[in-house]
Amino acid sequence: MVRAEGVHKFFGRLHVLRGIDLEVEPGEVMCVIGPSGSGKSTFLRCINHLEKIDSGRLWVDGDLVGYRQRGEKLHEMREREVAAQRRDIGMVFQRFNLFPHMTALENIMEAPVQVRGESKAAVRERAMDLLDRVGLSEKVASYPSQLSGGQQQRVAIARALAMEPKLMLFDEPTSALDPELVGDVLDVMRQLAVDGMTMVVVTHEMGFAREVGDSLVFMDAGAIVEQGRPRDVLTDPQHQRTQDFLSKVL
Ligand code: ATP
Ligand code: MG
Repeated sequence: MVRAEGVHKFFGRLHVLRGIDLEVEPGEVMCVIGPSGSGKSTFLRCINHLEKIDSGRLWVDGDLVGYRQRGEKLHEMREREVAAQRRDIGMVFQRFNLFPHMTALENIMEAPVQVRGESKAAVRERAMDLLDRVGLSEKVASYPSQLSGGQQQRVAIARALAMEPKLMLFDEPTSALDPELVGDVLDVMRQLAVDGMTMVVVTHEMGFAREVGDSLVFMDAGAIVEQGRPRDVLTDPQHQRTQDFLSKVL
């Protein structure tokens, strides 16, 4: 579902991604861990072309991200094409960026109605189902300011799912939450995984990575140091840098 080959990214002279190679199979949950500044968020953002890569190739569901290939040459996509590509990829950030002036239901309905031009009636039904799925049926008419951080984050997940994505990207979705609110959000993500969604999850939640992840990637200084089954990486890390990192977070 996601394939990266030799992906490099610079911010000015800062070499942030230094040759990322990886593959995420359909239905796989890949968790990504690593120290602050190691390039985790940047890599996620490259997957939906919020950042442009400087060399290498990235594919989502078999399509090059952000480029069309004609013969040997790559041509950058127009903004419309990029937007169309992004519609199939849901993204949930650390900060729940819901539209503050819309209710939970309206937040979820917004993109399918405005971007895809679906009928309000059909979308409303789907949005209600999604609210139910994230355990917030009774919050249909609540505004973000009336919801807890964990509830807002669950609405954000429902909003992403409303576009029926084939891939979900999560960037530390629980790290801005009070500890007692983390569990509900992880439960929603766990259920999503059980339902077969392909997910790339940057997280500090090692319990989640171990229980839900099919694979675990440890990044440091813009490179993948180690990857494998979460259990193996967490209990028997092969590299000193992984051991050092885990000794700080476990
Ligand atoms: P954290 O765990 O703190 O979220 P991260 O692994 O997600 O860290 P990134 O946010 O990907 O790290 O950042 C990688 C490096 O790129 C950092 O040195 C960061 O300062 C730099 N960086 C990120 N975004 C930009 C940008 N838009 N312009 C310049 N430098 C950037
Ligand atoms: Mg980050």
